Amino acid sequence: MDRNKYTPRPRTASASARRAAVVGGGVSGLLAAMDLQAAGWQVGVYDAASSWGGCVGVHEVAGLALDSGAESFATRSSAVAELAAEVGLAKNIVAPDPAGAWVWLPDGPVPLPRTGILGIPSDLQAPEVREALGASGLLRAALDAKMPASVGTTEAECSVAELVRARMGRRVLERLVAPVVAGVHSADPEVLDVDMVAPGLRAGIREHGSLVAAVAAQRSAAGHSGSKPGSAVGGLVGGMHTLVAALVARLADTGAALHPGHAVTAIRRAPAGAARHGAGFPSRWTVDWAAGPDTGSDTVELLVVATDGPTAVKLLAPELPELLPFAPAPGPDIRLVTLVVDVPELDSKPRGTGVLVAPQTPGIAAKALTHATAKWQWLADSTGPGTHVLRLSYGRAGTAADAVRLTARPEDERQLVATALADATTLLGVPVTGDDVLGADIVRWKGALPFAAVGHQAKVAQIHALAQRHPGLVLTGGWMSGNGLAAVVAGTRRQVRAVLDSVGDGVSTT
Ligand SMILES: Cc1cc2nc3c(=O)[nH]c(=O)nc-3n(C[C@H](O)[C@H](O)[C@H](O)COP(=O)(O)OP(=O)(O)OC[C@H]3O[C@@H](n4cnc5c(N)ncnc54)[C@H](O)[C@@H]3O)c2cc1C
Repeated sequence: MDRNKYTPRPRTASASARRAAVVGGGVSGLLAAMDLQAAGWQVGVYDAASSWGGCVGVHEVAGLALDSGAESFATRSSAVAELAAEVGLAKNIVAPDPAGAWVWLPDGPVPLPRTGILGIPSDLQAPEVREALGASGLLRAALDAKMPASVGTTEAECSVAELVRARMGRRVLERLVAPVVAGVHSADPEVLDVDMVAPGLRAGIREHGSLVAAVAAQRSAAGHSGSKPGSAVGGLVGGMHTLVAALVARLADTGAALHPGHAVTAIRRAPAGAARHGAGFPSRWTVDWAAGPDTGSDTVELLVVATDGPTAVKLLAPELPELLPFAPAPGPDIRLVTLVVDVPELDSKPRGTGVLVAPQTPGIAAKALTHATAKWQWLADSTGPGTHVLRLSYGRAGTAADAVRLTARPEDERQLVATALADATTLLGVPVTGDDVLGADIVRWKGALPFAAVGHQAKVAQIHALAQRHPGLVLTGGWMSGNGLAAVVAGTRRQVRAVLDSVGDGVSTT
């Protein structure tokens, strides 16, 4: 990372700075820490894991440093690109290969329409939409433009499936939306809160008269012109984990106290005056931590909890029992199988940047395959011709048990790699065998993706209201802001700004 690119030079907390603690060092926690530090607070960041970044991890496979979790960000807003620029990575922002992805339907593969949001098309005339839906599916989808804007928009809560089925019909739901939702959210659209995963879409229907028009308007607001395919995601040369490295470097530079491998075990409200500069401050919090055999505690005036939802509620419940009814269900158990293979036939990018698999597709256990070396030119440049990186993901929430066993037993993991090779062969139409494998790794993401069941957005609003009754407390992260880096970055900054507005910057007034 080029540290000279930092502009403006952030403020380093002074000796008289007020103190804040951030629990959780995923992107949300690191960003909250960076913004608080820049506002003059002296911040300590605690993460249970030995490495930073949470879902934005890195692993080494066949000598390559690869993203082990998130590998791109949505470009529907500029939040992530702005953050990347702020930490000196502007020149590393890239678009994926324009070839686009495919969707594997029960009757075979078709190109995935590139003009949609969550798989909902913005242009019914696009050839890929026609191919995926067929004549009857298209006719039904076109009714969307003729029905009243009230359809799907008057209910207080609505699932993705209810909205799409009501306005555009079953074929759009099953053949376009379900595979995208499974690939991105590891969830079934029947149970996913549309207002959480596609904020503003229902309001857009009321404004523009139809779902198709609402999708087109959101895309064009994000800079994708009308029905023209534009890249819905961006990436960083070197991988998304370089953003984490840059955030951590920024925090270290500005004097934040970084505590990896420190699991926070309890959060307590501290007695008045316990924080160093706490006299007269409305709230003081003590975090207890454990790092191997060592334990300790830290008392601060401002507390950010940026863990997953179930952990946040568990930690805060002794002091805020009113949070308990809002405890979210744990997210799905996901396995990401990364294969680095020597298969020159894949140089032709047979399925573009990858394939999303429609649920209940016979013979394929994966829910998605990303052909990473086809998607990212910088990665292809680093592997050279003939060598390819494939990422296959397994595990869906809210659906019947998967066809693959997701335990960590070695025999199940060996079986999962074999399944991934078979799935890659089918999905890419090119034999990919054990002999071609230069390296393989399985990463287990347990409960890492927040599960935004119908009604989640209303719950989040109530949780915010609850947290606001405790000045100096911020609850943030994917479970509060929505899944995905774009939502997490924007939400975290909003929440930190709100707390700074209420408690002021970090310069001690005592
Ligand atoms: C496999 C996978 C692929 C993804 N791909 C994409 C993608 O391509 N694009 C995209 O935009 N989004 C993607 N996402 C989603 C995105 O990564 C997340 O929305 C985002 O990174 C969440 O950030 P966060 O900081 O809220 O939470 P997390 O990253 O989950 O961080 C929470 C942190 O809290 C820590 N923690 C938990 N308990 C404690 C405790 N008791 N004490 C201290 N620390 C604790 C954890 O160790 C963790 O580091 C993906 C997610 C996964 C799992």
